[in-house]
Amino acid sequence: MKILAVNAGSSSLKFQAYEMPEEKILMSGTFEKIGESNSFYTIKFNGEKIKKEIDLPTHKVAVEMVAKELLDNKIINSLNEIKGIGHRVVHGGDKYSSSVIIDNDVISTVESLSQLAPLHNPANITGINAFINMIPDAVQVACFDTAFHQTMDEVAYTYPLPYEWREKYGIRKYGFHGMSHRFVSERASELLQKENAKVIVCHLGNGASITAVENGKSIDTTMGFTPNAGLMMGTRCGDIDASILPFMMDKLNLSTKEIDNIINKESGMLGISGLSNDSRDIEKASEAGNERCFLVQKMYARRVIEYISKYYVLLKGADAICFTAGIGENSPLTREKVLNGLEVLGVKLDVEANKVRAEEKLISTVDSKIKCYVIPTNEELMIARDAYNLVLGNNNV
Ligand code: ADP
Repeated sequence: MKILAVNAGSSSLKFQAYEMPEEKILMSGTFEKIGESNSFYTIKFNGEKIKKEIDLPTHKVAVEMVAKELLDNKIINSLNEIKGIGHRVVHGGDKYSSSVIIDNDVISTVESLSQLAPLHNPANITGINAFINMIPDAVQVACFDTAFHQTMDEVAYTYPLPYEWREKYGIRKYGFHGMSHRFVSERASELLQKENAKVIVCHLGNGASITAVENGKSIDTTMGFTPNAGLMMGTRCGDIDASILPFMMDKLNLSTKEIDNIINKESGMLGISGLSNDSRDIEKASEAGNERCFLVQKMYARRVIEYISKYYVLLKGADAICFTAGIGENSPLTREKVLNGLEVLGVKLDVEANKVRAEEKLISTVDSKIKCYVIPTNEELMIARDAYNLVLGNNNV
């Protein structure tokens, strides 16, 4: 069965075409700068990569190109062969605890949740509508970044702010990166051969979050009402003393928009280093003696260590600590700094095994009390699996 996994952003659209249940990628593609000048797309299939510069005024045009490429390259003979399309949707609020088949109700709920994710949900809806128009007979499925974390209890998700804010304005922790945390924790359970495993998943990309998972359920996670909570990230500050914000707004006469931009786009690794939000640049500069980059590395590792320890206590132990996403998969140095800081928990890093990049691997020694893994994430595959299962009528996704 042919299934598409789609991730539509405000000016981009990514897709993967899968043969299911074999989980074979038939074609993948990225459309960039939609609605801007210099738009282009790249597609990959059969080991080939093709880039085309083409005017992409709207998502509708990008979706038409997806269909054209799938047909022209004989991935499909007719659009009706695509039975299901899974769409990544950033915010499902407290309404969705799993992926769901999209109907008018789902669309209006996702639209109404746009106030919680103004940059993402409207773009996700645009992508959904474009695919509904193009392939109306396919089952359209919404896969939410927040859904996996709906199992958190109110002790975890309630902020110590006026209680009415939670009820009236939806001010609570939602958590994000759910498809990734779910994928990695499921894979860890398979590797551990343990169903009720206690797993701590560190998704360390440009955006970063850690989740405590027990028996396949998210118990707590570091991102919050927005993704700007918990860890220090590429450009986001994560957890800080909230009172710094009104203080600095007064001092520098900043608007809410300006302060929001600073804490989301000019903080984190970039803010401290003054150099880059990319951990590769930070690693290089630090090695060359840049003290602020050295500070970034220490601050970054400290925060990851703090949350892992916190979740270790919350879970009353852990079977595995998993690293995933750009930094988690590709930076042995970051993993080493983190795991060496967890020696007190009985964690022992296998330095040789840790040299791995972007590959599934056990990186702890045999006598480590907690198994540590690198597990490359695959949110697209998770989306395709959910869409496939919902097409089959299996609601247990
Ligand atoms: P996102 O999906 O949140 O944009 P990714 O998961 O793609 O981010 O992670 C991107 C980040 O991964 C980069 O900004 C960079 O910091 C980091 N990264 C990628 N490759 C490497 C590497 N080889 N060494 C260290 N860090 C890396």
